[in-house]
Amino acid sequence: MVDADQTFVIVGGGLTGAKAAETLRAEGFTGRVILICDERDHPYERPPLSKGYLLGKDTRESVFVHEPAWYAQNDVELHLGQTVDAIDRVAKTVRFGDDGTLAHYDKLLLATGAEPRRLDVPGTDLAGVHHLRRLAHAERLKGVLAALGRDNGHLVIAGGGWIGLEVAAAAREYGAEVTVVEPEPTPLHGVLGPELGALFADLHREHGVRFHFGARLTEIVGQDGMVLAARTDDGEEHPAHDVLAAIGAAPRTALAEAAGLELADRAHGGGVAVDASLRTSDPDVYAAGDVASFPHGLFDTRLRVEHWANALNGGPAAARAMLGKAVSYDRVPYFFSDQYDLGMEYSGWAPPGSYDEVVIRGDAGKREFVAFWVKEGRVLAGMNVNVWDVTEPIQKLIASRTAVDTEALADPHVPLDTLGA
Ligand SMILES: Cc1cc2nc3c(=O)[nH]c(=O)nc-3n(C[C@H](O)[C@H](O)[C@H](O)COP(=O)(O)OP(=O)(O)OC[C@H]3O[C@@H](n4cnc5c(N)ncnc54)[C@H](O)[C@@H]3O)c2cc1C
Repeated sequence: MVDADQTFVIVGGGLTGAKAAETLRAEGFTGRVILICDERDHPYERPPLSKGYLLGKDTRESVFVHEPAWYAQNDVELHLGQTVDAIDRVAKTVRFGDDGTLAHYDKLLLATGAEPRRLDVPGTDLAGVHHLRRLAHAERLKGVLAALGRDNGHLVIAGGGWIGLEVAAAAREYGAEVTVVEPEPTPLHGVLGPELGALFADLHREHGVRFHFGARLTEIVGQDGMVLAARTDDGEEHPAHDVLAAIGAAPRTALAEAAGLELADRAHGGGVAVDASLRTSDPDVYAAGDVASFPHGLFDTRLRVEHWANALNGGPAAARAMLGKAVSYDRVPYFFSDQYDLGMEYSGWAPPGSYDEVVIRGDAGKREFVAFWVKEGRVLAGMNVNVWDVTEPIQKLIASRTAVDTEALADPHVPLDTLGA
């Protein structure tokens, strides 16, 4: 039973933390809600940072989860620019800020997200080496891309994942020269596999992006603090005025680890281990969003999902669990991306090795299709490219766990919602 004397503390003011605070109030929680974040900006959404905001199409105001006044209006005690550096699970306190303020909690939510991995190569500290996670990073990168476009400059992007490709698209729109260095044989290899990865390579090549596959950056060459070139392990040197390290993100687990909470093993993406109700190994501590590794019944494995929809839904799910409601967090993972005039949504989970075929419904050549990753007839994942309003039937097919007729799956005339029933 939760009463008005209780205090719920949320560490991390990304989308997960902000949505959890919103849900606590929406569910009628009348106790204290304390939200602590090391960033100075009010909680904001990150997807525009590599898309509309980076391109100057979305305003700064449009990225925030709530209006700044919302927090006070909803009695959410917001501590911005303050890092939580310790959790005492016996005293049930968190310590934060320069003066080591202690806040008591009855329930605690860890929504500490993830941070960009750093390139561990000589030259990585040069001023022209960038990462993209925060609003301030996007603001800086926007200026960099505009200058590169103006001066016909070169951007080398380490990593052909979602962020690398979205920035490549933005950089080309600014008119910069772009080279993407990627160790795998295609971009997005680890998520989409070689079949659909190749399609994204073609899309970017058509827009003038150069790829260097099968190679890693080994050195960023600079002079007087400026980037001059990027070297790869096969001995090539690419001219560069700026470098973006887009080599993935690591879950921010240090706080949980120091507090003795159970972590998921790296083979499952690491993160703070939670059960299906997003509860950690301590019954009063929860974790959600990018930092959490939860057991997913549909795929019979633990997943750590670094996507917007998981923050949007995971924060509220954790909040409900903290309030003592029955929660089983088993949503089909979902994400989206926009690059040039290609928009896509992906539902499910099907890394290379987990599926036996990719079934295409529609015209892949025209980039208007749905791709399905299938194992023994069962749909593990689906991606709609420039085709809309199909996420619900795709997710139902995945959740049904039944084998479907793959010829019917490939046939656009067979309605998706008649399959897998
Ligand atoms: C550039 C970019 C583009 C993206 N585009 C897409 C997209 O198109 N589609 C999609 O599905 N997903 C996208 N994502 C992923 C999506 O934004 C993340 O999944 C989402 O932000 C996760 O939210 P979160 O709240 O769990 O973590 P975060 O957003 O990382 O927020 C965690 C917050 O906690 C703070 N924090 C951490 N430790 C502490 C501490 N000890 N004390 C205080 N504060 C702390 C962090 O600084 C941060 O502010 C993108 C991500 C980035 C970076």
